[in-house]
Amino acid sequence: MSEAENMAIKISKRIVDYKVQKDDEPAAAAAPKAPEKELMHEDIERPEELRGYTYKIKTPLTDHALYITINNIVLNLGTEHEQEYPFEIFINSKNMEHFQWVLALTRVLSAVFRKGGDATFLVDEMKQVFDPQGGYFKKGGRFMPSLVAEIGEVLETHMKKIGLIEDEELSATHQAMLAEKRAEFENKEILEGKDDNSYPPNAQLCKKCNTKAAIMMDGCMTCLACGESKCG
Ligand SMILES: [Zn+2]
Repeated sequence: MSEAENMAIKISKRIVDYKVQKDDEPAAAAAPKAPEKELMHEDIERPEELRGYTYKIKTPLTDHALYITINNIVLNLGTEHEQEYPFEIFINSKNMEHFQWVLALTRVLSAVFRKGGDATFLVDEMKQVFDPQGGYFKKGGRFMPSLVAEIGEVLETHMKKIGLIEDEELSATHQAMLAEKRAEFENKEILEGKDDNSYPPNAQLCKKCNTKAAIMMDGCMTCLACGESKCG
């Protein structure tokens, strides 16, 4: 078909149907492509350098602190999709010989990280591990059901830090309500002689946030840590 024929075609018959011509394939392929987002997958080789974060935890279970190091790989560096993903985890302590299962756990966790896909489920799995010995209380009265759960919490903190888990901050109204409740309680001078981070000695364990911070207020069990109230 010549240029002239292409530009102007005389239609002598009645138009009964029409079709809009689509961009042909070669033209579409020539268009600039958006950079593809690389996700974690098992064929990614360990780079020479990883970004590491170390968290210290102290539990009443052992004399020595545990140091949890999580090294991240940075994918899509310098693009809008830049994202850190955990690549490996190590746990060190002076009394490591008692923790062969900790070593096994870190190896399995690292393998799951490197396999790719969403690894945030690990946090829930670990936080649900209850020590048959009964768990322990952290400073500030928060209950920790097991060492595995505490390691899971560190992983959660880490995943929040790098944006893999959304941080559900307490809403402003909720925080204001808590501050008010706390002030109300302090006015009753029950907290006298207590430092700011601790809850009344007679506080009960809140089932929602695992903190010994639930007290009876106006005939209603109210948690001073998370605001959970039996009366809504
Ligand atoms: Zn609570």
